Amino acid sequence: MKMTVQRDNPETREFWARVERDELSVGHCNGCGEVHYYPRAICPFCFSDDTALKAVSGRGEVLSYSIISRGEPYVLALVTLEEGVSMLTNIVTDDPGAVFCGMKVAVTFQDGADGAKAPMFVPSAN
Ligand SMILES: [Zn+2]
Repeated sequence: MKMTVQRDNPETREFWARVERDELSVGHCNGCGEVHYYPRAICPFCFSDDTALKAVSGRGEVLSYSIISRGEPYVLALVTLEEGVSMLTNIVTDDPGAVFCGMKVAVTFQDGADGAKAPMFVPSAN
């Protein structure tokens, strides 16, 4: 898988610590109640600094995707979680041609191109 991410940012350090425990989280604002991704110290909706991580289901669907064919093909995708936020990620599949917009997916935690664990998604029945 090809993802590389910035992990030493103080705003996202706890997010990545949770990923190491196979937990997916998004940012949640205690001021306005909105969720956001990636997690930030300041809410992007109301600018409150009363934000925290919120564990999420890891279920979602493919909003858009692209098959990257340079080298071993892989699928770069925007996945919208049930909670309403979208994240740039990879779809892990042996059949990239079978991916479609609206496809149901579920989170999996796998090593990215930098060798560290990252949230990616696999096709899901529900
Ligand atoms: Zn807010």
